Amino acid sequence: MRRVSVFGATGSIGQNTLDLIGRDPSSYRVVALTGGRNVAQLAADAVRLRAEVAVVADEALLPDLRAALAGSGVEAGAGRHALLEAADRPADWVMSAIVGAAGLEPGLRALRQGATLALANKESMVCAGRLMLREAAAHGGRLLPVDSEHSAVFQALIGEDMAAVERVIITASGGAFRDWPLDRLDEATPEQAATHPNWAMGQRITIDSASMFNKALELIETREFFGLDPAMIETVVHPESMIHALVGFNDGALMAHVGPPDMRHAIGFALHWPERRSLPVERLDLVKLGQMTFRTACETRWPAL
Ligand code: NDP
Repeated sequence: MRRVSVFGATGSIGQNTLDLIGRDPSSYRVVALTGGRNVAQLAADAVRLRAEVAVVADEALLPDLRAALAGSGVEAGAGRHALLEAADRPADWVMSAIVGAAGLEPGLRALRQGATLALANKESMVCAGRLMLREAAAHGGRLLPVDSEHSAVFQALIGEDMAAVERVIITASGGAFRDWPLDRLDEATPEQAATHPNWAMGQRITIDSASMFNKALELIETREFFGLDPAMIETVVHPESMIHALVGFNDGALMAHVGPPDMRHAIGFALHWPERRSLPVERLDLVKLGQMTFRTACETRWPAL
């Protein structure tokens, strides 16, 4: 039975991860589930999946978490110290899905105990990519990308020689304002920015998709993860979000990773790696899709790029 922990279990990535784990409960022993402030969701999942420990980031919420877990046998913890103690508990596979730089420290702890870290938290790669890779190498840990673009690149590179890679193309949906006239952008409201055309995701990534700041983070993540020269990394706007990334080789071949926008593909790939197993995701009907389109990622519209 594999020992698994999910950091950021109450968020969008965390809930998709628990959906996959919950479909096959006899294969997993859930060690730690962590959340920020959503005690009700955290406690419900911890009890349902019989986690060893549930940790909430906000220390003031410890009494609420204790009350919600009373009689369940699940330990309750709160605050940074409890989060790091949970990250130190031996696990084979850990999902890093806390939002923001708060995900860095627990992710490093998991790598230091030799776990495979499925990395949704791109912010830790952006702020400390080399440290993450060094710690993984030093302690026998392993980093696997969960961002859909990076999972796509990782998959396109399986069995390939990095010396034959000429370029990597990361696609971008263009976010909420891709079709807005430039002179109307200053009228945009937070509510409009928080609506993504293709993906259902947390607030940080949705808002940062509207400005493409998220894509800027992903370009840095690509460089850090795959050790590429920045000049080899391109981005192209692809409104349908069906191709997640492409890798171009020195013989002119472009290997694309294609699939409907559902994060359970990238999460499931990382969960089962190095095997591929059946996943409950929609199978793409190319004829129904009809066409895929591409546009320049305009740096006037999206200066973050
Ligand atoms: P959400 O906002 O949906 O979830 C964030 C999670 O982090 C929640 O569990 C939240 O707890 C917890 N959290 C928030 N602040 C803290 C803190 N200070 N300390 C500890 N835990 C905290 O985000 P997403 O799931 O969308 O994104 C998670 C990560 O995955 C991000 O790094 C994002 O960039 C990345 N990602 C997300 C994708 C997606 O499809 N959603 C795609 C690719 C990458 P609570 O809700 O209980 O307060």
